[in-house]
Amino acid sequence: MTMRYPEWIWHNGAIKPWAEATTHVMAHAIHYGSSVFEGLRSYDTPDGPAIFRLTDHNRRLMASARIYEMPMPYSVEQINAACREVLKANALGKAYLRPVAFRGLGGFGLSADTPTDVAVAAWQMGAYLGDGVLEEGIDACVSSWQRFAPNTIPAGAKAGGNYLSGQLVAREARRLGFGEGIALASTGLLSEGAGENLFLVFNGELHTTPVSAALLNGITRNSIITLAKDNGITVVERDIPREYLYLCDELFMCGTAAEITPIRSVDGRQVGAGRAGPMTKRIQELFFGLFSGKTADKYNWLERV
Ligand code: PMP
Repeated sequence: MTMRYPEWIWHNGAIKPWAEATTHVMAHAIHYGSSVFEGLRSYDTPDGPAIFRLTDHNRRLMASARIYEMPMPYSVEQINAACREVLKANALGKAYLRPVAFRGLGGFGLSADTPTDVAVAAWQMGAYLGDGVLEEGIDACVSSWQRFAPNTIPAGAKAGGNYLSGQLVAREARRLGFGEGIALASTGLLSEGAGENLFLVFNGELHTTPVSAALLNGITRNSIITLAKDNGITVVERDIPREYLYLCDELFMCGTAAEITPIRSVDGRQVGAGRAGPMTKRIQELFFGLFSGKTADKYNWLERV
């Protein structure tokens, strides 16, 4: 995906020109993957632009930093404010936001006490997995790469280093002509997509893999579970073996970037009718309804810019 850079970025406490948000080549994160980050989306709503679950995302950023004992020089409220500022500075309505905190320059070695750099970027971004995929769906494959075991790298932290695994999964899938890759956990059971959680539909019920399956506890996943339950849809979190990908009635991926992307085939096998099914469409309607005003935001998930 190509990207048109915006004019302004927030870096270590101030809005500055995009080109000035630089770091040293010897920063810890470049060598050791020691960054934590978030991905958020803002939407144009009838009440003006709003960031979806801003506070929950930035709380997860703090949690990721805490797991790695990375001191955070800013509070959730300050990073929330930075997100708002960077949208305003670039006059963005519907956008993708990327807060990132990383171990910077200072000392040498894995356990060095480095200063933490923090930045927030925002730019316009359409459908992450390609144009038209929200309607048409993607062809996915099960990756030959496995997710990391829970006692190796914690999947509950959204850390830069985790995405080495994600890159292997995503690049292999694209190279083989698929839209996205799905990884199995070290247990051999289903985990998640390279950068998305998974939902399978069986007999009108939504089934999703549990956090114990080496996945990121997605905020979109949580939003779907909440919306579904509130609308009388049964949601089951359970261990799911791979073969159920071939047996389910419908299948979709979700994440901030991917939003709700139907999967029309896995490993060349058609899923259900080979297009977005009624449950996937219902969940899309509930989810996107939050931004058009059709779904009541009784959760206060829309945080005004
Ligand atoms: N899993 C992984 C590995 C991800 O990178 C993401 C995207 N952040 C997700 C799941 C979905 O998480 P969220 O809904 O919070 O964006």
